[in-house]
Parts: sequence; structure tokens; C-alpha cells
Amino acid sequence: MGPDRDLEKREVWTVSDLRRWAEDPPEGPDRPILSVFGDPVAHSLSPPMMNPALRECGIGGRYVRVRVEAGEFEEALRLLPAAGFTGTNVTIPHKFAALRAVDEVDPLALTLGAVNTVRFENGRLWGSNSDGPGFLRALRESFGVEARDLRILLLGAGGGAGRAVAIQCALERCRRLVLVNRTAAKVEELCRELRALAPGAEPEIVAWTGDALREALGTIDLIVNATSLGMDPADPPLAPAEALGRNHCVFDMVYKPLRTRLICDAELRGARAINGLSMLLHQGAISFETWFGREAPLEAMRSGLEGAAAALEEETR
Ligand code: NAP
Repeated sequence: MGPDRDLEKREVWTVSDLRRWAEDPPEGPDRPILSVFGDPVAHSLSPPMMNPALRECGIGGRYVRVRVEAGEFEEALRLLPAAGFTGTNVTIPHKFAALRAVDEVDPLALTLGAVNTVRFENGRLWGSNSDGPGFLRALRESFGVEARDLRILLLGAGGGAGRAVAIQCALERCRRLVLVNRTAAKVEELCRELRALAPGAEPEIVAWTGDALREALGTIDLIVNATSLGMDPADPPLAPAEALGRNHCVFDMVYKPLRTRLICDAELRGARAINGLSMLLHQGAISFETWFGREAPLEAMRSGLEGAAAALEEETR
């Protein structure tokens, strides 16, 4: 099968395909060698980002989507080495199951409590997590800043992505870490964890109200949205627009749509703002480095990712 973009966007394989491939591994330059496991997974942008990287580096094989249901995860993972795979990415809802299913876990993934990258080596499964480090690289590339120099307010700190970013920022000893979440109990628990993981880090909790956010934002450098709010244009605003200003950098982890209400509000008031594509790109680059032990061809990945994201946005407009 050829690597054309439309095909990459729609192709979804299943665990039955993995069983077939494990018995009779496909051959040739288009054989699957990497995948993303998820459910749903049909709109994953990883194949159009990763396949140009494989081509650019002259690595035969391609990256495919596999829809894996909850009860199938461990079997699916164990089939991959026999099917000739190098590794896989893991996305919603399997990142926590992946931590338990692998044979070895790198220390950061263990701390984050989730695995999004699995590599096969000498018959063993190695789990790691590129989400937190991908966030740090995206921050550096997009705004030219380091998390450790920033006062950060994190909306949605209690979700999976928010937790990863909060832990990474605490490990970086950022100047200030303010956690906001709709369900307060989740960030209270996270705060206890952060104090144990990064002694000296003093995470704060701010209630999700207009007044509390207005006050907190006066002494914040970076606002991160790790909620799913913003995906639907009818979603309520995340923060009072008048509290955003040119002193802020805004990192919206949402990438569909490419320009969320938060990004528009922020830019209108002179803030610098980016969407979640840069984090997706950099976590993908780190996964690539984990599998192949070489630098990822970032520009080939970026252009594949941006092209596919724009096409997806156009299609669903
Ligand atoms: P998740 O674990 O389900 O967490 C969802 C978060 O959003 C929770 O904090 C939840 O608050 C909050 N939330 C949901 N609906 C809300 C509402 N109506 N009002 C206020 N808060 C609400 O999901 P996730 O995996 O962390 O993903 C979160 C977002 O990050 C998604 O948009 C995802 O696409 C994006 N993401 C991007 C990247 C990237 O590379 N750019 C990577 C991972 C995730 P409660 O705790 O109160 O439920």
C-alpha cells in the first residue's frame, strides 16, 4: 500500500489483523512496523506525521493505526514483535494499562503513571513516556522559554495530560505552579503527590471561578489548557478574556480546531499563543528517537502533521 495522505488518514487496523500478521509477517517496503493503539483512533494524526519521518530516514515500513479495545490491549501488544514491529505508541484509553503491561518502565513514565511509547528489544517490552518531555521541547521551540523560569497556571490539571504536564513542571522546579481543575478532589490528590515527588515545589490550587482566575493571572507567565474545552466552538471561555495580556504565553493543548477561542482571545490582547500541534510533534520526535536511537527529521514530521491537521479541519468544517 502506498503512503498517500488520504490513505494514511483513514486506514484503521484491528487486533485480528495483528494476529494474522504475527502468523505471517508482511514483507516489502510498505509493511507495518510501527503503530498507535487507541480507541477511538481513526482521526489520529500520528501516521501522517510519522510516515514522512520513516521515508526521510530511508527506513522501510510504515506507521499504522490499530483500534484496540480495552480487553484486547495486552494481547495486541504481545503480538507486535512476532508481526515484525519495532514498537508502538499508545493513546487514550490505554496509557495506564500500558504501564502495567510492559516488562520494563523508564523512571519518568513510572513517575507519570502512564506509558505512551513501547519499544521491543531482545524480546522484552520497554515503556516510556514522551508527553511531558514533548511539552518542554514545544515550550522551548515556540516561546524560547524554559519551564523552570516560569510561573505557570494549568487548567485541567486533574486530567491525564494535565497531570503529566504538572508533574513535568514540578520536576523542572518551575517558579510557581498553579493548578486549576473542575473537580477539586483530583488536584488536591495531585498536590499531595507533587509535594512528595518534588520536595520544595509548592503547588497551589486556585478555584475555577472568574474572580479567582482574574487575580491569579496577574502574576502568571504561562497559561496551559489541558482540558478538552475549546474543541467545540460552543464551549464556555476557559478564562476571563480581559485578564489575558501581552505578558502571557498561552499553550492550548487542543489542536482541533487549530485556533481555539482561548488562542483568539489571547492574541487579541497581545499574548503569544500556540495550539497542541507542537506538543504532538515533539512527543512524536521523542518516540522516534526511542525506537531508532537517532535524531528525528523534525521538518518532515512537521510538514506531514500540519498538512494533515489542515486537511482534517477543512473536512470537518
Ligand atoms: P482527560 O484525562 O479526559 O481529562 C480531561 C480534562 O478536561 C479534565 O481535567 C476535566 O476535568 C476537564 N474537563 C472536561 N470537560 C470539562 C468541562 N466541561 N469543564 C471544565 N473542565 C472540563 O483527557 P486528556 O487525555 O487529559 O486530554 C485533555 C485535552 O488535552 C484533550 O483536548 C486532548 O486532545 C489534549 N491533549 C493534547 C496532547 C497534545 O499532544 N497536544 C496530548 C494529550 C492530550 P475533570 O477532572 O473535572 O473531569
